[in-house]
Amino acid sequence: MKTDWLIVGAGFTGCVLAERIATQLGETVLLVDQRDHIAGNAYDCYDEHGILMHRYGPHIFHTNAQHIWDYLGQFTHWRSYYHQVLGVIDGQQVPIPFNFNSLYALFPQQFAAKLEKQLLELYEFNTKVPILKLRESASGDLKFLADYIYENIFKNYTQKQWDLNPEDLGSAVTGRVPIYLSRDNRYFQDRYQGMPNLGYTEMFRKMLDHANIRVLLNTPYQDIASEVQYRRMIFTGPIDEYFEHMHGELPYRSVHFGSGYDEKEQLQTVGTVNYPNEYRYTRITEFKHLTGQQHHGSSWMAEYPQPHVRGENDPYYPIPQQENRDLYQKYQVEAEKLKGQVLFAGRLGDYQYYNMDQAVARAMSLFDKQIKNI
Ligand code: FAD
Ligand code: UDP
Repeated sequence: MKTDWLIVGAGFTGCVLAERIATQLGETVLLVDQRDHIAGNAYDCYDEHGILMHRYGPHIFHTNAQHIWDYLGQFTHWRSYYHQVLGVIDGQQVPIPFNFNSLYALFPQQFAAKLEKQLLELYEFNTKVPILKLRESASGDLKFLADYIYENIFKNYTQKQWDLNPEDLGSAVTGRVPIYLSRDNRYFQDRYQGMPNLGYTEMFRKMLDHANIRVLLNTPYQDIASEVQYRRMIFTGPIDEYFEHMHGELPYRSVHFGSGYDEKEQLQTVGTVNYPNEYRYTRITEFKHLTGQQHHGSSWMAEYPQPHVRGENDPYYPIPQQENRDLYQKYQVEAEKLKGQVLFAGRLGDYQYYNMDQAVARAMSLFDKQIKNI
């Protein structure tokens, strides 16, 4: 078998690169994935009850980059959707990220008003403050508030999700869900937010519908690499796997996804409910909120974080800690020795906690800088 490019992994990264190479360079691509479907972790499909669900956890698209929104918009219509999350705190469901509505829901009015005033003396309205920063800067009543939020929203959720304390991960991870000094209950504030109206998998099907692109599923690249003649390779699987773990295994977190169906129109009032302090799962998502599907019943998914064990479960989250970045650097040095013959990208190839839009941005910049003019 002969192809210009062998691309490993049919997720956002691999599919965008396949599309760019096929349409912009007119070169041929063989895109392989070990799974039985395209779309990587963004894969969605109809379950046995006819409900569109996401096999690998809820995926909500959000970006501030108009060019990324427009680029993907060539392959899908966007359904406008603003994700909302409630967290169960002291038996009440309050908006997450924690905001002034959460404050007033949890505390007596007068005390909440006092805390709101103190917060606004320290920060501007509409500011986002990571919990670890708030804990450093707060004193008096605000110290009490910061500790309360830390203990009730972040500490146990982070323990479940990462098996670490928030401080062990640094502000970037818990800062994804900052304290938000506003009344805006949306989970994201990006300019563009939505869901592909027919689902992610359909969007990728359109993206890959080109005479220069051939897709092989159920195919670990190791099984075919020796049979394929290619000029260059792009690898979007785990970089440590490519190098046969020669410097040791990079750690990842995995998740077990439990799902179910109930004969009810609606199971919860918003797309996702977080359970920082109870149960072994972190959150439950009801898909109809995300997809807008009409159905007499509803399907949900609970996420149970797990350690990643190679061969037993999938690596979903790189763990952003310095020692892991140091180990990743060693693999990057190996990658450089390949002098562009094999390019690495994506959440697993770059060992970076990318959102979907960041994976697209990374793929596009790799195409522009290391593929287009070479
Ligand atoms: P992937 O989607 O992981 O694709 C890599 C592909 O490579 C996989 O299909 C894999 O099977 C294949 N592969 C690996 N090794 C081999 C091999 N040896 N041979 C053949 N194939 C191989 N982002 C958002 O923006 N919004 C969200 O709401 C959101 N929610 C998320 C929820 C969860 C639970 C998770 C885990 C992630 C979420 N993300 C979200 C992040 C999003 O999934 C990633 O940004 C995106 O999937 C990255 O795409 P990728 O192509 O780099 O990797
Ligand atoms: N987080 C938390 N409590 C919450 C929500 C988030 O402690 O109710 C922390 C937790 O460490 C989590 C991180 O913030 O891993 C990022 O949350 P996000 O929802 O962005 O995670 P993802 O959707 O990527 O799993």
